[in-house]
Amino acid sequence: MKPTSVKQIAKQRIQILFEQAKQVRKTNPQLAMQYIKSARRIAMAAKIRLPVELKRETCKNCNALLVQGYNCRIRIKQKREPHVVITCLNCGNQTRILLKKKKEQKKLEQNNYSNEASC
Ligand SMILES: [Zn+2]
Repeated sequence: MKPTSVKQIAKQRIQILFEQAKQVRKTNPQLAMQYIKSARRIAMAAKIRLPVELKRETCKNCNALLVQGYNCRIRIKQKREPHVVITCLNCGNQTRILLKKKKEQKKLEQNNYSNEASC
């Protein structure tokens, strides 16, 4: 399949950059960071979002490739709402991921509203 739009090309390039970053992360972490940095810039320029699975693997703050047990810590917390905390051991930046999906939350809210309206 030939990439037709800019967005498709960008997605392809991002995939390649992440693969490259994974290959060099042990021998040259600095280079891996550079790759992720440029992957981010490509995504921004093409106005696309990084795929979720790739987003989870990178540190927002220092662009490091996060590998569990190597340079990041993943914990599940129950405070307020259940969420996952990913700590980058490179720079100490923490990313929180709520375990409740936004769509479900919205649906619940809508249901509540309709219930209130019918009462
Ligand atoms: Zn970091």
